[in-house]
Amino acid sequence: AKSGGRGCFHYFTSGMQASIQNRIALINDLRKAISNRELTLVYQPIVEIASGKIHKAEALLRWHHPRRGIIAPADFIPLAEESGLIIEIGNWVFEQASLQAAKWRSRYAGNFQISINTSPLQYRNNTDSPADWLAWLAEHKIDAAALTLEITENLLMNDYDKVNKRLAQLRRAGMEISIDDFGTGYSSLSYLKKFHIDYLKIDKSFVQKMSKGSDDLIICEAMVVMAGKLGIKVIAEGIETGEQMQLLAAMDCQYGQGYWLAKPLSVGQFEALLSPESKD
Ligand code: C2E
Ligand code: CA
Ligand code: CA
Ligand code: CA
Repeated sequence: AKSGGRGCFHYFTSGMQASIQNRIALINDLRKAISNRELTLVYQPIVEIASGKIHKAEALLRWHHPRRGIIAPADFIPLAEESGLIIEIGNWVFEQASLQAAKWRSRYAGNFQISINTSPLQYRNNTDSPADWLAWLAEHKIDAAALTLEITENLLMNDYDKVNKRLAQLRRAGMEISIDDFGTGYSSLSYLKKFHIDYLKIDKSFVQKMSKGSDDLIICEAMVVMAGKLGIKVIAEGIETGEQMQLLAAMDCQYGQGYWLAKPLSVGQFEALLSPESKD
């Protein structure tokens, strides 16, 4: 395993390609990861900047490999996509996160939401993940409003009609749709008009380069103003410093997420935040 770089759980440093044999071995291991209960979700708070209150949580996938330790999603989601396993893994994520959201709704806050990352492959026409999700929610009597789906801009480029139909169906059921990593994909601002989007998440590459007078600060401000006028809520991602927090507050950015606020947390750690006074 390669160590060093940020985050001790990276088996490969980002950008480094695994060898073919390694990839095949990992895909075979991944095939068994669900039934071996090696996958877990951690939850990162999304915070209302003005009040400091937790707005919702983003579910982030972790793979506890029996020999290699914790593998980060950047190192196995691409393999899951290549091999088609993303459908099964994505459904598992959806099911776990929706059960968790229902539990937190009944225990802590009736309107609590969990945001789920989804891959463009889950919306392709030869699979029907969205229909499976709706059936799962109905079967478990979980309100679809407990969930937000994070998609990437690139999804909006392809199969416009089919993707739009599926997203519209999910929204009608009560889910919210969030564009992840906004500003980094092959985007066209016209998508914001064509698709009904509830949130956009300003990519951390912009947030982390903000400083007084910088281009990145101007770009962040422009995104916040534009989204506000279009009735879209904004989440700034990757906030790592108090200065970034102040700059975002000054531009009236509504929501934020990042290590400076909280790292991704286990269920137990997250519950301690939801109910700090309950620890007696
Ligand atoms: P993302 O959706 O953009 O998620 C945010 C990533 O940034 C997470 O990395 C999170 O831990 C990290 N992060 C949070 N705050 C900060 C910060 O202040 N600074 C920095 N440098 N990073 C921060 P993570 O958990 O390793 O996930 C990486 C990517 O893997 C995610 O990026 C998402 O695209 C993908 N992913 C994670 N879980 C799932 C999943 O269940 N399904 C799918 N399809 N993709 C997932
Ligand atoms: Ca995300
Ligand atoms: Ca993101
Ligand atoms: Ca991403």
